[in-house]
Amino acid sequence: MTTLILKPVSPAERSQWIDAFHAADPTLTIIDWDDPSAPPETVDYAFAWQPEGRRIAAMPNLRAVISPAAGLDHILRDPAFPRDMPLYRMGTQETVDQMGDYVCWAALTLVRDAWRWAEAQARQEWSPWLNQTRTAATTTVGVMGLGELGRATALRLKALEFQVCGWARSAHHIDGVDTFAGDDAFIPFLNRTDILVSLLPATSQTAGILGKKTFAHLRPQASIISVGRGSQLIAQDFVDAINSNVLRGAVLDVVPQEPLPQDSPLWTCRGVTISPHMASEASYRDRAAYAVSVIHQIEAGKQPALRYDPAKGY
Ligand code: NDP
Repeated sequence: MTTLILKPVSPAERSQWIDAFHAADPTLTIIDWDDPSAPPETVDYAFAWQPEGRRIAAMPNLRAVISPAAGLDHILRDPAFPRDMPLYRMGTQETVDQMGDYVCWAALTLVRDAWRWAEAQARQEWSPWLNQTRTAATTTVGVMGLGELGRATALRLKALEFQVCGWARSAHHIDGVDTFAGDDAFIPFLNRTDILVSLLPATSQTAGILGKKTFAHLRPQASIISVGRGSQLIAQDFVDAINSNVLRGAVLDVVPQEPLPQDSPLWTCRGVTISPHMASEASYRDRAAYAVSVIHQIEAGKQPALRYDPAKGY
């Protein structure tokens, strides 16, 4: 018998998760994180959003923690989380596909300055303006982060005829995509980029990477798509860059403070579209099936992919 402890984002989701886990593996015993009668020694696996690290450390037979999200910052922000505990991030096909869809939509939105249409519509105003001659084919999208999501997203952008380049810590080869590796290649990568996408994880190295030092090296009138994590965006630098026309526009799915406060200047920046951190949110069924596949692989003595590496920080 394998026992999973479940801690969803909100208690209202509990029954959907239980149904989804039982559809994936009817033999799984599921106990609730808040059940005071659940003995910690019976727990084999945790599927948890923002689990308290000391509770995890107090489960003597725990074999792995599986994150319901691709980002692990919600777990690692707690210094009490035991860094040697096997920790797996979410990585389903739906997660990849939704992110690809979102970034392609955002890039096309920016190419066409679609925010102008939304503003005119809100004023109930039919106001055509002379469009620029930009197209996907004349626009270079630079993707920061070429992992599970970045690689697939770069290929989707390429399929839409964008010019695509990518940057990561280590060298990557992706057909049709010009890739750059490491800190020394960062500025040459930015120099090529009209639309900068962040698909980087939240780490101490990536904090504040979407700031004025980066914006200064982009092509004139560049735009950004922020889908990695909000800690990467320096809000004041961003507002200044929009106001001074260093940046032409942006699509922000992740922002430094979430939910974004009502009085944040980001809401009213010209050329900026904001979505509430939902670029990629795979279904319960898809994520539960992935978590169960991780459990089955570990039970079979295999090493599942997408394991957190404490040395790299992601
Ligand atoms: P991966 O861990 O698979 O990929 C991370 C990529 O970032 C790798 O290519 C890695 O380089 C690169 N990287 C990490 N640190 C650096 C650095 N300092 N300099 C240069 N490159 C770096 O992650 P995923 O692709 O699965 O996810 C990426 C992020 O997307 C998640 O961490 C999460 O924050 C975000 N996300 C956002 C969602 C949303 O709805 N907005 C939904 C899902 C995820 P290398 O290949 O060399 O290791």
